[in-house]
Amino acid sequence: MPRDLPGADALLRDIFGFDAFRPGQGEIVEAVARGDNVLAIMPTGGGKSLCFQLPALMRSGVTVVISPLIALMRDQVRGLKEAGVAAGALTSGNTEDETNAVWDALHDGSLKLLYLAPERLASSGTQRMLAQAGVSLIAVDEAHCVSQWGHDFRPDYLRIGALRRELDVPLAAFTATADAETQVEIVQRLFDGKQPQTFLRGFDRPNIHLAFAAKNSPRQQVLAFAAARRGQSGIVYCGTRAKTETLAQALSEAGHSTAFYHGGMDPDARRGVEERFATEDGLIVVATVAFGMGVDKPDIRWVAHADLPKSIEAYYQEIGRAGRDGAPAETLTLYGADDIRLRRAQIDEGLAPPERRAADHGRLNALLGLAEALTCRRQTLLSYFGENSAPCGNCDLCDKPAEVFDATTPVRKALSAALRTGESFGAGHLIDILTGTPTDKIRQRHHDALPTFGVGKDLSKGEWQAVFRQMMGHDLMRPDPERHGALVMTDSALPLLKGETTITLRKDSLIAAKDSARPAV
Ligand code: ADP
Ligand code: ZN
Repeated sequence: MPRDLPGADALLRDIFGFDAFRPGQGEIVEAVARGDNVLAIMPTGGGKSLCFQLPALMRSGVTVVISPLIALMRDQVRGLKEAGVAAGALTSGNTEDETNAVWDALHDGSLKLLYLAPERLASSGTQRMLAQAGVSLIAVDEAHCVSQWGHDFRPDYLRIGALRRELDVPLAAFTATADAETQVEIVQRLFDGKQPQTFLRGFDRPNIHLAFAAKNSPRQQVLAFAAARRGQSGIVYCGTRAKTETLAQALSEAGHSTAFYHGGMDPDARRGVEERFATEDGLIVVATVAFGMGVDKPDIRWVAHADLPKSIEAYYQEIGRAGRDGAPAETLTLYGADDIRLRRAQIDEGLAPPERRAADHGRLNALLGLAEALTCRRQTLLSYFGENSAPCGNCDLCDKPAEVFDATTPVRKALSAALRTGESFGAGHLIDILTGTPTDKIRQRHHDALPTFGVGKDLSKGEWQAVFRQMMGHDLMRPDPERHGALVMTDSALPLLKGETTITLRKDSLIAAKDSARPAV
């Protein structure tokens, strides 16, 4: 995390709408913003563009972005403009008006990002213009296009090295092509053979053990996790400020050396906790996500989440604070249906425009998919970040494979109970219908006359709760943002309802739902 550049986190949130850096992004942003020459090798989809867009906003003057893909450039310019960033492109696809607007913005010094098609570099007009424009950084996307032996070779990329020398500004090169020869060629041609700061770290942190558990009694679960790691430094992340204080109290009563930390505390108190954590052995800090920016303690042995994080990016960043020294570290993330409801509501009630909200739901889905994964967690996590890997042998599902069952029938029954009652009720009432429990509410609404009444007697309430949680985790149902507590079916449930597909759910989380009185399904 760029500690000495306080703007990065605020920009990440306010301009780009992300709550955490993706793996690797933080370090790269820091280096690029500082003005280092950088070569970053990241898998496709890993989030390269942010690594030059964000530093461009942190630096004075204009950043020139060279990219071979016109459609992509126009896309990025549109996205940046929507976010209120002065960006423009000079490509062959421009109208004259567009080009004039870019020149004007460049002249009056308001432009922050100028996207250039490589063929533009051949023109002496462009070179003159760039020499006068106050360029402070050159970013090169798809930097492997400079390689004469590669299949993407773009002769105009060979002009970039001269441009860098001429302007005498730092250059940041990005590519997804990692092979050694290409790297050597990039260093030769873009950096005159002088090795830039190079980022080629896989996203994996193999020493961190990954585990998730269904939340049944979070306080007991966290206490048990901490008790098994007595004397080790750890962080417990909570969703609310109040919870950090009560949970810290409970841990302290259990004999752990504990402090709490959240954004509502005055700066001195917060600094005090940061200092204690850095210097004391075996302190547990119970905190909101406010704790982390200034923490670079290498020997944090464990991180527990008492509540589900916001997104898969936030999850990765938060667990990534453990085990920086490379020694084994452990994590546990608790999640339940309430977390899903809370996180969905936070997105729906936020002020973000609709597309951004949809993207936020997508990132939450990715995290829920990880929480409900049936096979290796690390494989699931890394594949989200674009990396292929084998089963890791260091996660709860590698330790003990999930027991699964074909849940097609129960899921269809649950969907049918929701649909027959107008998608107006929450899981509790739907479960009463499915299990044939004649509550007052059931009788008042004559739901005991529904054909679905009692069709799910073969499962207990606890088992049904786990089925509903997993259905929400698979985004088959979502809480209705307008009607409190009501669950509505999503389009992704249609194929199941129509009998076009089947679904497998985990049996062990049924047991984890504290329902040992009955055998699981
Ligand atoms: P690349 O150029 O590496 O293939 P992009 O820069 O296009 O990848 O980013 C891929 C996707 O990841 C985009 O949809 C982008 O919005 C998203 N993304 C990038 N950084 C983050 C982040 N920190 N948090 C969440 N999503 C991100
Ligand atoms: Zn694994």
